[in-house]
Amino acid sequence: MDWEFINLETDFEAGTQAPTSYEKSFHIIISDDEILTIDGVHPWRPLDQDEWRWLPLESIADHYLGQVGGIPIFTHEVDSNADNPDGHEFDNLWSLLNQVEQPVFYLVGRAKQIVEWHRNHHFCGKCGEVTDSSDQDRSRKCRACGEVFYPRLSPSIIVLVTRGEELLLAKNAHSRGNFYSTLAGFVEPGESIEETVHREVFEEVGIRVKNLKYFASQSWPFPNSLMLGFHAEYDSGELVLQEEEIADANWFHYTDLPTHPTGVSISGWLIQSFLEKMERAH
Ligand SMILES: [Zn+2]
Repeated sequence: MDWEFINLETDFEAGTQAPTSYEKSFHIIISDDEILTIDGVHPWRPLDQDEWRWLPLESIADHYLGQVGGIPIFTHEVDSNADNPDGHEFDNLWSLLNQVEQPVFYLVGRAKQIVEWHRNHHFCGKCGEVTDSSDQDRSRKCRACGEVFYPRLSPSIIVLVTRGEELLLAKNAHSRGNFYSTLAGFVEPGESIEETVHREVFEEVGIRVKNLKYFASQSWPFPNSLMLGFHAEYDSGELVLQEEEIADANWFHYTDLPTHPTGVSISGWLIQSFLEKMERAH
């Protein structure tokens, strides 16, 4: 089956144990967190087995990701200083974000995070000895003390706070440009994600919220977040901004929004779903 006929949403089956024999395969090549692309091929696709075999790049580590439409797919880490091979270019994940369908982006994000996890866990973080990959699951185990390391995920919440027909949007202190988005923050040890929503909103903009509604989640591999999206309603308080994090925050009527995220990110989905609700109501 050719890549363009594959529907990743239904045809991808994750796995950790590669089949012993196969005739076709797909390959995602990663160098220093950048993904190998083929010049002139849009949207992005992985290499097939022949394209990978003849490429003048040597794999440092191979990882089996699973099967797509019955065809095994691998990711390969190559030298972080590797030059672009003829007709190819290493590109960062951001550049794929707007180019490929969401499931393809998730698959490439998965590959990048697995390569990064493997690269960062050759040695045990507890005792410093060498670790080995498990053949049972996606983990590495220390030869000396037995500590086990799984790919790290950092759950974070992202929340659209609304008040009647208004949306609370904020400008991040660390980003350039006049871009407003929803509030977000990492879950801390010991917290439920609902507690994170209340704490982050209060810390960043000084208000209390109520009626939290879980919306959806999104894998966000920059570098290893899992975004858990919520809608919440304003409850009480005045806007008091946390200056280190928030350059500006304000209530915007749904018909008069500043530049804000669109389709590819969960903040865009949260905003879109509220706008649709408002439009249905009018
Ligand atoms: Zn150890």
